[in-house]
Amino acid sequence: MINKLTIIGIGLIGGSLARALRDAGYVREIIGYGRSIGNLQQAMELGVIDRAEVSLPDAVRGADMIVLAVPVGNMAEILNVLGPVLPDNSVVTDVGSVKGSVIATARPALGARFAHFVPGHPIAGTEQSGVAASLPDLFQRRRVILTPEPETDSKALARVRAMWEAAGAEVAMLPAADHDRILAVSSHLPHVLAYCLMDMVVRHDDHRAILENSTGGFRDTTRIAASDPVMWRDICLANRDALLDALRQYHADLGAFVEAVERGDGKWLCETFTRAKHARDGLNKKI
Ligand code: NAP
Repeated sequence: MINKLTIIGIGLIGGSLARALRDAGYVREIIGYGRSIGNLQQAMELGVIDRAEVSLPDAVRGADMIVLAVPVGNMAEILNVLGPVLPDNSVVTDVGSVKGSVIATARPALGARFAHFVPGHPIAGTEQSGVAASLPDLFQRRRVILTPEPETDSKALARVRAMWEAAGAEVAMLPAADHDRILAVSSHLPHVLAYCLMDMVVRHDDHRAILENSTGGFRDTTRIAASDPVMWRDICLANRDALLDALRQYHADLGAFVEAVERGDGKWLCETFTRAKHARDGLNKKI
């Protein structure tokens, strides 16, 4: 049970976590901290938070759990202010989509209290942003990856694990570098591809006709191109090396498709499509 939960950044993820924990009866009081008064007011009106604060030291005073749910590019400014005002006995965690860069910022910013910082990433979300898009069941049966460091306090880790389990999630552990390498392929690359395809189409001479005749496949493939551009810019830059590896591999594989189509190689295309279809059918069974 959390007595006082402070969520820094009451958007899709922060708002959904607040709703899930409230529904589970796992938290007594939820404080929201954010940049814009409008968003915080909306969070109050929706009943997502009990109280809003626009001062970070005031927001975290007396909190036993602090969740950083701002875009990856804004983590550093928050962590640097948080370090000197962190209450005793508080546990800090984050939901950022890249772990190595957040950990590299948190270690010097939090100093000795870094042991009470538990890096995390819920593998759940939508292309929507903001508290109005938050959902109480967003994390139900979804995976949350925690990436503790050697110095992470085991009791802090247990408290963060218990919080996510109360929100309905299944918790897994990974080293941060493995997380960033895997998510570069499973999440960051697909977002870049969706943005790239959508942007290619809007710059196409026939863009109006293409969009008027857009198929379900086009809509499915580009759905995540409606995601927040600033958030995804930050993720791409924060996970630069792993994303570059994934992009280069994809670029080479796309080149193989170009060559197969050029030489009219139906056998290669069918074998490749069949291998991919089997893999995708298997994924459907796991969901
Ligand atoms: P979001 O809906 O845009 O919410 C972000 C919130 O952070 C907004 O309420 C924003 O406040 C606030 N914020 C931004 N900069 C701030 C600052 N400097 N100080 C205080 N508040 C600030 O974004 P989200 O989708 O919830 O993403 C939040 C985090 O979750 C990101 O780190 C992302 O990588 C991670 N994540 C996202 C997904 C996903 O599918 N979206 C999935 C897993 C993890 P204002 O409204 O006032 O700007």
